[in-house]
Amino acid sequence: MRAYCEHCAYPLSTCVCSALVPFDIPLDIYILQHAKEASHAKNTAKLVAISNQRTHIVAHNDAERINALKQTLSPNTSAILYPSDNSAALEDHKDALARRLTHLVVIDGSWRQAFGIMQLYPWLTMLPSFHFNSAPQTQYAIRHTQVKAGLSTLEATAYALGCVYNIDVSPLYNLQQAMQQHWQGPKHHRRATKKTNLARG
Ligand SMILES: [Zn+2]
Repeated sequence: MRAYCEHCAYPLSTCVCSALVPFDIPLDIYILQHAKEASHAKNTAKLVAISNQRTHIVAHNDAERINALKQTLSPNTSAILYPSDNSAALEDHKDALARRLTHLVVIDGSWRQAFGIMQLYPWLTMLPSFHFNSAPQTQYAIRHTQVKAGLSTLEATAYALGCVYNIDVSPLYNLQQAMQQHWQGPKHHRRATKKTNLARG
């Protein structure tokens, strides 16, 4: 059986605690996580959640919590990161958002999964939705299919926080880098992994 770190909840072999620098954020973030993402070893949503107290991961099929969330969110004080024909550029609205936002919703899943979640909960489309105009390119190389204009969930969340509140989000990027290094590993480890895979056929 795999041993897990008690603190970060990742397997001990990929524990990110040494890179963890907790920081405060000025609003509540709800990450609607597709159920299939929850068990994905390279998922970055959990990294966001362990870095601060105000990020909450909600499984997309957890009807009770989703319903509670629906009661909490109001179009006046909430927003969702979801690019669509109706979404606006986050960069163009950052000052207004910084004044009024109390809740931000981020969807954690592939494009298709995110679309499915929006269909499942049409009330989400009532929230002001935003896309990015000038986000940096992803630094997350260990997964190929990412949502949010090619960004990982962590990167999208970090970019939004940095853009709207101008806060230093480098602790988040450092966490992602730490996790990524576990997977890439030093070169001799990489070769060893390859051999193991071949042996397994
Ligand atoms: Zn840990």
